Amino acid sequence: MTYTNDSHSFLLEQFADIKIMRYLVSGFESLLLKQKELVYYLSQAALCGRDIIFDQFYEHNLLIRRTNEALLESFTGDRQTTDFEQFVVYTKRVWFSNGIHHHYSTDKFMPECSPGYFEELIQQSGTDLLPLQTGETIINFTERIIPIIFDRAIAPKRTVLDSSKDLVKESATNFYKNVSQQEAEDYIKSIIQPDAEKPLSVGLNSRLIKENGKIKEQVYHAQGLYGKAIQQIIFWLEKARNVAENKQQEKTIELLIKYYKTGDLQVWDDYNIAWVNDTQSKIDFVNGFIEVYGDPLGIKATWESVVNFKDEEATKRTQIISKNAQWFEDQAPTDKRFKKNQVKGVSAKVITVAQLGGDCYPATPIGINLPNADWIRKVHGSKSVTMENITYAYDKAAEGNGFLEEFCCSDEEVSLAKKLGPMASNLHTDLHECLGHGSGQLLPGTSPEALKNYHSALEESRADLFALYFISDKKMEELGLIDTPEVWKTEYNAYLRNGLLTQLTRIEPGKNLEQAHMRNRQLISRWCLEKGKPDKVVELMKKEGRTFVVINDYQKLRELFGRLLSEIQRIKSEGDFGAGKQLVETYGVQVDAELHHEILERFKKLKIAPYGGFVNPVFTPAYHGKTLVDVEVSYNEDYTQQMMRYSKEYSFLD
Ligand code: ZN
Repeated sequence: MTYTNDSHSFLLEQFADIKIMRYLVSGFESLLLKQKELVYYLSQAALCGRDIIFDQFYEHNLLIRRTNEALLESFTGDRQTTDFEQFVVYTKRVWFSNGIHHHYSTDKFMPECSPGYFEELIQQSGTDLLPLQTGETIINFTERIIPIIFDRAIAPKRTVLDSSKDLVKESATNFYKNVSQQEAEDYIKSIIQPDAEKPLSVGLNSRLIKENGKIKEQVYHAQGLYGKAIQQIIFWLEKARNVAENKQQEKTIELLIKYYKTGDLQVWDDYNIAWVNDTQSKIDFVNGFIEVYGDPLGIKATWESVVNFKDEEATKRTQIISKNAQWFEDQAPTDKRFKKNQVKGVSAKVITVAQLGGDCYPATPIGINLPNADWIRKVHGSKSVTMENITYAYDKAAEGNGFLEEFCCSDEEVSLAKKLGPMASNLHTDLHECLGHGSGQLLPGTSPEALKNYHSALEESRADLFALYFISDKKMEELGLIDTPEVWKTEYNAYLRNGLLTQLTRIEPGKNLEQAHMRNRQLISRWCLEKGKPDKVVELMKKEGRTFVVINDYQKLRELFGRLLSEIQRIKSEGDFGAGKQLVETYGVQVDAELHHEILERFKKLKIAPYGGFVNPVFTPAYHGKTLVDVEVSYNEDYTQQMMRYSKEYSFLD
């Protein structure tokens, strides 16, 4: 099947505040058979952990997803009503968020149809598909599930970051059970290794529970929590190991299997080191309990997977950046004590994503930099990727939607954004991922956990500021990465426009910013707006009731980025919790209600969903007898078909 490059083939559907797109795996056909086979096995492993993320986000997510699916499949009543349509939207939203909380705001969302209608759905559906407990009647089941779905007071938020509350007790996440924030923090304090040269990522892969007055960890591994799904992941990883491209990759996959079998965090570190050193392979993957954004305490990781292969041509760009990593580190506007004397192995590449799983599906990042353990990054370096077929799909799906025309302050800014926006944004991502996160060092004795719930927002700010500061450096032209200052000016326009205005389209009226990346973007933008006031570096201008961002002095703006970078690096290196909190709370949290209202009104007229996610391509192996002779990629599956199929084929948890 071929696809024309018009936006319709990239944009599949919209519902609620979400658009569903597809991405193309260009270049898959020209991989070697063995490489295709490897992609196939790793993709299977990427799908086998889907249930895990649902359960990690909230203990009843799987129950609700399965109920929705049973009703969708077997409801015998009228499907042409508004009520039914609202139920379908709810089902789609639960799939999208891997649960009943909004994937971005983490607020609980509810169906627009009534509890009464939901009861009707249950009554007019086949009981054999519903996830009834043994001996449970339909009436009991209905009484059990209706409040979980419709009662606003039950599990209202997945990840609470408001530090006046008990973050653990108030969060709906399933990382903790029967413990308070104090108990969790005390426990973590008792197991961290602050003085160790190579501290393990303690607590990363477990649920912390209190049973009979005793606090203990339930570790995720093949025989432990989530064992049934993990065993399936291992099954496919073993096949992948057998067709690995080289010894290093084989060793890497072997270690991951060992880690999944044991849950041993020492093996996890060994695996990450092997993975960082696997730089020669064409095919690569992320698979594991990795990011800690979902945990209010920033300790416990959600499960995710991304399968990909290197885009050789585009990678030349990131290789240039990596090769010069030391130069950037030396020239950074930060205190010498906070710099790395030797920036190690910042390997960077542009990748083509072949499959998304867990916390990366359907909503996906556009760049990844791993591993997360600070000491491994320092000693062994990190691997950084830019997911270019994903950003390409975003750009294609957005063509002609009127967004730039509405929010850019001039026609010139619109045309620059159209011409150079994607390129400028890719370059920003490269710098953010290849250099930003990998730069700097902690002072001896500073705990990596010192910034607590402000860590993520500050860390993202640091990486963004590194990118913003250097994208306009003369070095970029010298290196042949930029041929006109218009590129970085386009990025500065886009960054502040987003940080001050357009990202507010993702926030409900009356709400503040909670998500780390959003806090970070507003922090940087508002701080520069305020600090640049005396020189009118940046201004908010009103034209006919519409607010626009105007940058008057690009050079001075760059200096402001540098100043803030220096301060945030200090905060991280010294573990200055108070100053970090102050920055985030002052600039990154509060939303200007009047401006917010205006932005939402303008955005509403465009009828664009503010969030996006992707369906995966389908890989189908072809066999001659028992021999695999090819793997075909197809893009025919729509969102609902894919979700229903995944729930049938990749659901392993009770
Ligand atoms: Zn980042």
